[in-house]
Amino acid sequence: MDISSFNPDFRNKESGRISQRPDLLSELQKGSKQALAKAITLTESTRPEDRQVVREIVQQCNHEGKSIRIGITGVPGVGKSTFIDQLGNYLIREKNKKVAVLAVDPSSGRSGGSILGDKTRMEKLVLNDSAYIRPIPSRKELGGVTSGLSDAIVLAEEAGFDVVFVETVGVGQSETEVSQLVDIIVFLLLPNSGDDLQGIKRGIMEEVHIVAINKSEGENLPSAKKTKMLLDTVLQIMPGPVEGEKREVLLCSAQDGNGIKELWESISGLQNRIEKSAWLRENRKLQKVNRLQYYLDSLLRDSFYHNSNVSDAIAKYTKEVELGKMDAYNAALEIFKNFK
Ligand code: GDP
Repeated sequence: MDISSFNPDFRNKESGRISQRPDLLSELQKGSKQALAKAITLTESTRPEDRQVVREIVQQCNHEGKSIRIGITGVPGVGKSTFIDQLGNYLIREKNKKVAVLAVDPSSGRSGGSILGDKTRMEKLVLNDSAYIRPIPSRKELGGVTSGLSDAIVLAEEAGFDVVFVETVGVGQSETEVSQLVDIIVFLLLPNSGDDLQGIKRGIMEEVHIVAINKSEGENLPSAKKTKMLLDTVLQIMPGPVEGEKREVLLCSAQDGNGIKELWESISGLQNRIEKSAWLRENRKLQKVNRLQYYLDSLLRDSFYHNSNVSDAIAKYTKEVELGKMDAYNAALEIFKNFK
């Protein structure tokens, strides 16, 4: 494969756009949420030149890694948004933090719409000046969930957000990708999850730092306690992401706010320990190496799909496959031959 002729530097062609860059960076550094929104929108553009602009901004960001990056995961309906709403407000109110929420939205790739468009579930946080909430589409054609997300995290850090939550639906691929971008993963479970521990993927459990059993109130309390006991046992024998670290299982009610403070204590206690040990430093190195991989994937895709020979060949061979004149694999090989 020869991509030596591919020039990823789009600036000369797009001088009008590039002139916005210094403004956007300085606005971002002043903490402008508008600038942050604009920069994140550029990461989502289908135009490679837009993403080039924002990547240049990302390269000049000085606050990369200055926040605590927390992944919040769990099945739809477990209470992730309610939980982030409560914890986010607690952090702003009690700890004087600025909180960004990047919510990976699995629906937006297919429908073009967004499950978060009508997101009123973080109703208190959305009104708070110290908070910024943003859905991130998980469109595969831009190089996976995380290519834009990893930039968005750095941009939020540059805008002065010192806690960055990444909310993901606890199923499938996006999960594993997101775990490579955050420091600490909190897994939310329902009180009756103990009945179906087999249903929870082992891979996810191994990545999780802290488990929170949400909706642990009223008549749910007995089953929540039972689930906690079971999980305590399971996690004892299952290796976690940080060697030598006993993983905590906590009960909370995002609805009532009970247990939220304790969860933060658990998160910040862990943060202190991983900061002191080499773990956080090593993890941050890995996060950077992963970013290199995302950029590479993205550059390759751009150079491939924006190559006119390739687009012509895609049109031609897609027809052949549709008409049953060629099988899909050979068609792909023929298309690939045009990538020169
Ligand atoms: P998500 O899909 O994981 O983001 O879940 P949501 O935050 O949207 O919550 C799903 C539903 O559960 C909503 O109706 C919430 O009001 C409700 N919910 C969230 N947390 C709690 C809780 O601690 N207790 C109870 N009883 N309901 C909750």
